[in-house]
Amino acid sequence: MAEQFETRRLHAGYDPAKHGHSPLVPIYQTAAFAMTDPNGANPEGFVYSRVGNPTVEAFENRICDLAGGVTATAVASGMAAITDTLLNVAEGGGRIIAPSNIYGAGLDEMNSLLPKFGIETDFVQDINDFAAVEALITPETKAIYTESVANPSTAIADIEGLAALAHKHHVPLIVDNTFPTPYLFRPLEHGADIDVYSSTKAINGHGNVVSGIVVDGGHFDWDQARFPQFHEKELILPDAEGEPQTFVEAFGNAAFGHRIRLKYVRLFGAVMSPFDAYLALLGIDTIAERLDKEVHNAVKVAQYLTTNPHVTAVHYAGLHPEDPLVKRYFPKGVGAIFSFELAATEAQVDKLLLSTKVFTYLPNVGDSRSLIVNPRRVTHREVPVRFRDEQGLTANLVRLSIGLEDADDLIADLDQAIAQAFE
Ligand SMILES: *Cc1c(COP(=O)(O)O)cnc(C)c1O
Repeated sequence: MAEQFETRRLHAGYDPAKHGHSPLVPIYQTAAFAMTDPNGANPEGFVYSRVGNPTVEAFENRICDLAGGVTATAVASGMAAITDTLLNVAEGGGRIIAPSNIYGAGLDEMNSLLPKFGIETDFVQDINDFAAVEALITPETKAIYTESVANPSTAIADIEGLAALAHKHHVPLIVDNTFPTPYLFRPLEHGADIDVYSSTKAINGHGNVVSGIVVDGGHFDWDQARFPQFHEKELILPDAEGEPQTFVEAFGNAAFGHRIRLKYVRLFGAVMSPFDAYLALLGIDTIAERLDKEVHNAVKVAQYLTTNPHVTAVHYAGLHPEDPLVKRYFPKGVGAIFSFELAATEAQVDKLLLSTKVFTYLPNVGDSRSLIVNPRRVTHREVPVRFRDEQGLTANLVRLSIGLEDADDLIADLDQAIAQAFE
């Protein structure tokens, strides 16, 4: 479709005429579908909901369209999206390059679990330090992985520079674009090869579903030497004569996304449910308005915090519109999540966390409701201490995820909670 984002987020990837003329995507709450062909098929192509479901497919098509990809695969969580992606790119053994400021569970997986599957990660402190990244690239390197906007520092990755560096060495660039969502930033338009998302967060926007999605930009050339898994003959990919094909033969440069679905979702089975896809689609209906308002609120709250005498630092790229990376990649704002530090004891931070009345103290982001958390002891507790120290995850750092409340009410709430903490 050629329309603008605001039109496509409501209509893309779904044809009401094929679904009883229902303007909303219906919930196909069924495990399997009747077959009309003794070869195990029907004309619609849905047979079993672990492999494909019309409600889930509509969610996949919509995100695929909004993110600018060629295939999208929905999964049970953001972590399932990350796991399936890293295994799909590096199974059989290999190395990933990633910064040490990524999402806590993702870092824990790369640091403590994937090595048991033969996949090691080379961590860098700053992913925009291209010399440090390039020095780590070897024939074993299977991907460069980064978040577009880091949590909770809001450090911005230079996606175009990283893509150029990765492609110079025939390695793909994988971007976790959870924080901005495709509304604020689309990595695939800037050279990234694969996007992963936790749609638990701002894509859905209501804190009521755990889910994830992988989007393939469809332009990476999966060469046989580095990525033999895309060049093996597969019984599940028969050609017209019934002979097995490889993923590259069947799907060309879109091999990655199709292989995630047919290998990892079909066989490992961390699938998205139709009801969750319905809720996520409903959330996408208002993604532009939600993020505009949340960004507006976040800037106001961050500006207030810079004036509070107990606050020693506010970490929010959204306060620096003149920054070259903000200017180039985030003209609509950097998002609604940021962090700040107080000249406080741990007991004072505890008091602050438990004294807010509008902000809820819980470990999530991207909700319509404003949220507050202490990353060092909660969201990043599984991050090794050396990485927490390296990334400034101190005991007096507090993260906010700004919602749709009135900005002045949010400011008043933080103001009274900080006052109570320092009483
Ligand atoms: C939450 C989050 C994840 C993990 O998503 P789940 O849906 O909780 O599994 C991954 N990356 C980022 C940036 C996140 O914020």
